[in-house]
Amino acid sequence: CGIVGYVGGQGALDVVMAGLERLEYRGYDSAGVAVLADGGLAVAKRAGKLANLREELARQPLPDGRTGLGHTRWATHGAPTDGNAHPHLDNAGRVAVVHNGIIENFAELRTELAGRGHDLGSETDTEVVGHLLAEQFSSCGDLAEAMRQVCVRLDGAFTLVAVHADDPDVVVGARRNAPLVVGVGQGENFLASDVSAFIAHTREAVELGQDQVVELRREGITVTGFDGGPAEIRPYHIDWDVSA
Ligand code: GLU
Repeated sequence: CGIVGYVGGQGALDVVMAGLERLEYRGYDSAGVAVLADGGLAVAKRAGKLANLREELARQPLPDGRTGLGHTRWATHGAPTDGNAHPHLDNAGRVAVVHNGIIENFAELRTELAGRGHDLGSETDTEVVGHLLAEQFSSCGDLAEAMRQVCVRLDGAFTLVAVHADDPDVVVGARRNAPLVVGVGQGENFLASDVSAFIAHTREAVELGQDQVVELRREGITVTGFDGGPAEIRPYHIDWDVSA
């Protein structure tokens, strides 16, 4: 029920975990994180409270990376297990995606992917997105474009945030009927379900519009519609007091 994404100069895991803690009030049953480091993708996820995930990270630390994402899940499709927790990956383990909402046409997408040889291991509606992103990325080499291609195939409500190990300086987000806000920093940028996740770092925000995709890099953001056309950016300053 909460999403955080980060690209910048800080350790991504710390930023993401702190952001997820700020989103705990929304309620959740599982949590997970992914970090891009050393040319690969490192993932940890656990059913239960963030404390469970912290224990797992203490037991098996992730490598230090500057790009990452995190998720707290409120299960709609599939039991709240470690395996159904987000992020979800493609079979090569190069793409990680987190999702809040419901992909209504996931069953037909699953069948389609299975027919092309994909091995879908979770019970979630979300997992299809990781596999579809991997396919699209391998044909276009651009994660934002891959996200646009995938989003037009999805029915339902979704906030999606994804990273790809082959494009380690980019975080991509998308939204339809679910919230996603960009936090604009200096040499770093944030994505979250709401501003409380990044308010400790920046008060400059951009609200993503309906059916838009955002590409985050350290030095800037690019927003487009699902059709690839340029989108109007709506920046605002968070001047109200957002306290714990
Ligand atoms: N439908 C997805 C799932 O069940 C996402 C749920 C959520 O919004 O956290 O995994």
